Amino acid sequence: MSSNHRVVGKLQTLVRIPTVSYPDWDRVDVAAFDAFLVELAAQFPLVHERLGLTRVDTHGLLFHWAGRSAERPLVLMAHLDVVPVDGDAVWQHPPFGAEIHDGAIWGRGTLDDKGELVAICEAVETLLAEDFTPAQDVWLSFGCNEEVSGSAARLAVEELTRRGVRPWMVIDEGGAVATEAFPGIDVPIGVVGVTEKGVTSLELRVDGAGGHASTPARNAPTVRIARALQRLDRHQMPAHVPEPTLELFRRLAPHAPAALRPVMQNAGRIKPLVTKALVALGPETAATARTTFAMTTLSGSPALNVIASTAKAGVNIRITVGDTVASVLEHVRRTVDDDQVQVTLLEGNDPCPVSPMDEAFELIEATIVDVFPDAVPAPYVMMAATDSRHFTKICPRVYRFAPFRMTKEQRGSIHTYDEHLGVDALVDGVRWYQRLIERLPA
Ligand SMILES: [Zn+2]
Repeated sequence: MSSNHRVVGKLQTLVRIPTVSYPDWDRVDVAAFDAFLVELAAQFPLVHERLGLTRVDTHGLLFHWAGRSAERPLVLMAHLDVVPVDGDAVWQHPPFGAEIHDGAIWGRGTLDDKGELVAICEAVETLLAEDFTPAQDVWLSFGCNEEVSGSAARLAVEELTRRGVRPWMVIDEGGAVATEAFPGIDVPIGVVGVTEKGVTSLELRVDGAGGHASTPARNAPTVRIARALQRLDRHQMPAHVPEPTLELFRRLAPHAPAALRPVMQNAGRIKPLVTKALVALGPETAATARTTFAMTTLSGSPALNVIASTAKAGVNIRITVGDTVASVLEHVRRTVDDDQVQVTLLEGNDPCPVSPMDEAFELIEATIVDVFPDAVPAPYVMMAATDSRHFTKICPRVYRFAPFRMTKEQRGSIHTYDEHLGVDALVDGVRWYQRLIERLPA
């Protein structure tokens, strides 16, 4: 059996172990997580024998591979937990079956994020078998509760800090070798996340007298909440295209349809126009250009004939580069403009600092070109939050890139149904991590 098949079998075995994360620990199948770690050790014996291993949080793993130098450590991240499978969603193939159909491995976690985990381990296992020593220390940080914003990654950062390790570069999930990513552009784009939006949640609350529905007073709590939400929906924060997005446009320009080329090439100089276009094109492009507000939860009276004494709404906010939790709060208070609406910050995260496009980025870029010669590497702003945000505290160069070819359909399957990773894509991903480690600068 070839080594290609070997890595496919490893991923299949690990996808079949349902390491599902729930915010409520009582719902977590601890035995599945235990079994996963046992199976991981069985699949990657050299990684477990030769690398130093520290257990982090409940099932997180932090491996240390000593290189010739400890000057510029590399951290490769992945997480071993997955999101639950929605019972109503109809998968073409069983979500924990890891069956192979049409040249792909199907199942929950193949893309997010067991594929990366297995590709990293297989790359290291292969190099260890060749007695390779990396030029720099390599750390593997595998979280166990990323999907519920758990503490494993934060604790891994604490552990590295305790040991005096300052990573030179961190690479986590997010990004891909994406096809059909941009209308009119046929080449795959190796999108590398150089920052991510900050996830922030607010509660709006109005307290009032309540009472019987037969004698309503005006401006009840529910009405005030509704008015506050409407104002927030109407008056968004100003849009502005962040620099990584402008650089993405510049890099794609040569591959764009002729009519779009000059606009993309000069996006920086005609920023207001580009910003307007992105906002007008729809919610997805608008989200790339500004902080977004989603009014998600809403509650008032439990009964139709009772006036609510309290009305509440939840607002989920994704803060773009340039805005902050403080500026968002200021905007909300000014826009709602009602001192009876209490605004409580439930969680506040600023966007991550933008990682530089220096020699570390160039290493990622060169490795993309090497393994995916048809792809255009480019920076971008990630919309979703990853565990890597914790590493921005100890490292300026945090990048989000999964070295897998992914179609639009595949990217859309993450966290929903029909998640699948191409067999060839997995093999290329192993090669990408391997090349990256081989290329580490002395
Ligand atoms: Zn993930």
